[in-house]
Amino acid sequence: MKIFGFDYDGTIINIEPQKANAFGELISKYWGADKKEAADFWINGGGTSRRYKFDYYYEKKYGKKLQDKIYNKIESEYSTLLKQTYYPKVKLLPHALDILKFVRSQFDFIFVSSGVPLKEIRYLVQLNGLSDYFDLVLGTSNKYLSKRNHFREILNTKKPSLLIFMGDSAEDIKVARSYKAITIGLPTNQPKKVLKNAGANFVCSLKESKSVIKKLLANQE
Ligand SMILES: [Mg+2]
Repeated sequence: MKIFGFDYDGTIINIEPQKANAFGELISKYWGADKKEAADFWINGGGTSRRYKFDYYYEKKYGKKLQDKIYNKIESEYSTLLKQTYYPKVKLLPHALDILKFVRSQFDFIFVSSGVPLKEIRYLVQLNGLSDYFDLVLGTSNKYLSKRNHFREILNTKKPSLLIFMGDSAEDIKVARSYKAITIGLPTNQPKKVLKNAGANFVCSLKESKSVIKKLLANQE
């Protein structure tokens, strides 16, 4: 079975910079963090869960673990802001639709592995009109603490003869490589070098990724 996985934000769409700024604003308001530093942390921590990023700053500020109750409150404000202000204006990255159509025609199973909460990523994929391109859309939840859980599930339930994953952050690449995926890194938000150092098999633009995928498919046959 040929399987293709996509990260979502930074790969199909890109609102990471807006999300990073919104995160900075919010935790500077509530926890007195430095806005710019927090926004940079968000970008560099691409590929990790939303919870992880809030946990990090809370522990830094208060020296203790972030309780669910406090997280749920601040996360709900964050999520509402995204849904009201940013999600309605989201556009697909150039060539994303072309790649999705191509992959849909060539692979048996296509999934999304995102660090966005599960319900919210499914909402977003639907809002973007892309539900039909994916067999499974995974985000984070109590069951899926990180992208590692996504890969574990895919490997346990499907037996891939070919597994390719495309994402825009070092974390995406590291996780996917550790589960034996062939990785394509997109330098949307992080420099090419960072993705290469994380172990990306290929680093290229979304447009160029089509010929990379074609070659990988040809090698399979
Ligand atoms: Mg991403």
